[in-house]
Amino acid sequence: MTTNSHAIVIGGSMAGLCAARVLSGFYDRVTVIDRDSYPVGAHERPGVPQSRHVHALLMRGRIELENLFAGFEQRMLEQGAIEINFGLDFAALRADGWSERAPNRLTTLFASRVLIEATARELLRRTTNLELIEKAEAIGFEAARGEAPRVTGVKVVPRDGAVAYSLTGDLVVDASGRATKVPAWLTALGLPAPSEEVVDSHTGYASRWFQGHPERRPREWWWKGAWIDPVAGATPIGGVMFPVEGERMIVTLGGVGGHYPPSGESEFMAMLEKLRSPIIAREAALSDPLSGVYSYRQMANRWRHYEKWNARLDGFVALGDSVCAFNPIYGQGMTSGALSSLILGDILKKNGIRDVELPRKFFAAQARFQSEPWGLSTGVDFRIPGVEGHRPFISRLLDPIMGRLFEVQVDDPAIAERLGEVVNMVKAPSALFELPFLGRIAAAWAKRIVRGAPGRPEFTAMPPLIASKLAA
Ligand SMILES: Cc1cc2nc3c(=O)[nH]c(=O)nc-3n(C[C@H](O)[C@H](O)[C@H](O)COP(=O)(O)OP(=O)(O)OC[C@H]3O[C@@H](n4cnc5c(N)ncnc54)[C@H](O)[C@@H]3O)c2cc1C
Repeated sequence: MTTNSHAIVIGGSMAGLCAARVLSGFYDRVTVIDRDSYPVGAHERPGVPQSRHVHALLMRGRIELENLFAGFEQRMLEQGAIEINFGLDFAALRADGWSERAPNRLTTLFASRVLIEATARELLRRTTNLELIEKAEAIGFEAARGEAPRVTGVKVVPRDGAVAYSLTGDLVVDASGRATKVPAWLTALGLPAPSEEVVDSHTGYASRWFQGHPERRPREWWWKGAWIDPVAGATPIGGVMFPVEGERMIVTLGGVGGHYPPSGESEFMAMLEKLRSPIIAREAALSDPLSGVYSYRQMANRWRHYEKWNARLDGFVALGDSVCAFNPIYGQGMTSGALSSLILGDILKKNGIRDVELPRKFFAAQARFQSEPWGLSTGVDFRIPGVEGHRPFISRLLDPIMGRLFEVQVDDPAIAERLGEVVNMVKAPSALFELPFLGRIAAAWAKRIVRGAPGRPEFTAMPPLIASKLAA
């Protein structure tokens, strides 16, 4: 460690907190600035409006957040997070019917986005060489022009009316989210902005919170949550009933291909009745609404390609949604922010904090990782009619396999589990194309052809209750 080295992180949300945790192991001081003031406890704040919507913490995210913030799981459980095995605890209605209820290796924590962030922040505060500055908006870079331009700090405007000031640092990390202003700051320095790739399936959410009453639920309702896939064309709006701490649930309607779910309360409740199963409407009828309906539509996949950036700016890196934001329907954002932070740690460990090539090396390594979740979320989005964006040849080539895979996942729990492992980022997408697994997909598909039908229990509006024997 070099004396008085200082790293500055712009944005103290999930990606920024993870980055700060990693940087505290390499720099003498780390400062995180955020334009919001942090609430005491798990509450909303304006800078993270998406926190009103369901936030699935993927299994890989659960693992990495524990690695970054020791004690994370225990604190989450103490505060009411719910441990869920998706195969066992969720009633999932796929395009081809209800998934068979079977426990699998995928267990994660269900909680509100605000609890996840508040817990990470609480644990981060134990780091001694770290300062969180609130109500401080970054408005531009301080930079030096030598042989190559170098970021030397950040211009900060306090939101309480105090005088603007500059923070100087050796490394500045942009973790200010999807709507980052950094591309404009780069232009102000005379540098090009990184190229952007956008794949937009015109997805939108509408969410409402409910207070559950377990004593009112029929005993045979074995599920802790429910998931109804949208089906492009026929029923392009799906829904999820997502249990969170405090016996509450977030009900989110998700529409694809520009079929945005309604934002009025009565229209929202009516839409629940029109989903492919009334399961969520029945649950909602036994619960008390806690909120109005929140809408969200800025959900395109957006990748700022710093790894191809035709410019050099020493002392600057960017991670999290500010670089690569995904269609949130696949739940990859928080986990990807954590993984990018860990990659930054690996690069710093290998090269040290004084390596001027740090940005280039980090952006290259980060992009290698991001290409996997990006390929997954855009690959699925490209199946939605009306999607905008350039579809790579490989995605077209693999599409027939993906199509079969999605169909037969309800026939064979082992196929659903492997798909779940990839979606949960505990296995790489290449695991879906291993020969034995492809053989399994082919066998399930052949069975369908031979039988002339999926060979599954007939589709029922509510999930098969017989599965509740598993829980007995
Ligand atoms: C509707 C929706 C649902 C989602 N669902 C999931 C999910 O199920 N699972 C999942 O893992 N992810 C999900 N995500 C993505 C997830 O919210 C983000 O990936 C995650 O919050 C990490 O983002 P971030 O830290 O990069 O940026 P953000 O969370 O957007 O935070 C940016 C931070 O920077 C601060 N900031 C911005 N500008 C400045 C500035 N100039 N100066 C100082 N501070 C600034 C803001 O106040 C904020 O704190 C969802 C996103 C949306 C929109």
